[in-house]
Amino acid sequence: MFFSSRESEKKCKEVIKNLYYFAENQMLDCNQYIIKDSINHKLALFDTGNGLSINGLFKGMEKFNLDYQNITKVFLTHEHIDHVLGLYPLLKALKNKPPEIYAYGETAKILKAGNKSQICPDILGINLDLFGIEIFPLNVNDLNNSKEIEITSEFTFQILYTPGHSLGSICYYDSNKKILIPGDLVFTGGNFGRYDFPGGSLSTLINSIEKVNDLDVKYLLPGHMGISDKGNQQVALSYRMIKSMSSFY
Ligand SMILES: [Zn+2]
Repeated sequence: MFFSSRESEKKCKEVIKNLYYFAENQMLDCNQYIIKDSINHKLALFDTGNGLSINGLFKGMEKFNLDYQNITKVFLTHEHIDHVLGLYPLLKALKNKPPEIYAYGETAKILKAGNKSQICPDILGINLDLFGIEIFPLNVNDLNNSKEIEITSEFTFQILYTPGHSLGSICYYDSNKKILIPGDLVFTGGNFGRYDFPGGSLSTLINSIEKVNDLDVKYLLPGHMGISDKGNQQVALSYRMIKSMSSFY
């Protein structure tokens, strides 16, 4: 089932000028986003997918004349395998000029250590060997001291620490363009991230969603499912859902 998605082209869409969305490919993959620098054509990639979908990403990029060789920076939302495994084939594809990798706290720590059992805990019941991806220690820039990061002259993102789904979860927020890249914190349709994985916590997740519910968001670009240009409504819906659910406990 996983492997049928190996080569299929990722569906993609230009969200706004120089910002592109690449939809997840079937199971255990994630949405990805690319920001293009309109001057030098360098690309910043948000999340890397499950590794099997990397060629699908490259194929999808071609449609918009985006060359994967121009990926110079990779920003991760959190440490889960469906978001980070693609790093390893990506680095192989870009071995002559490896991109800089950015992640927060626990995510950075895990990727630097390159320990297979941390990247794919047994509890997930997934055999990494099936993916045929070799894990190794990476150079990662830890965003834990960064309040914001300028990606291009057009896009600057605040780094918001939003644990609850995992220990290393962050959101990227551009207050100027009202873009939120929340990883697996909130999704469209009133959905929100699971809190039953290692390092997850329901009460922490609620606090983190409350934090992003205070932001002015137009474009909600989550790690799974669809995207929305009614971000405020979508985040508010997720917040209401998790609050009403948690009142039963
Ligand atoms: Zn996740």
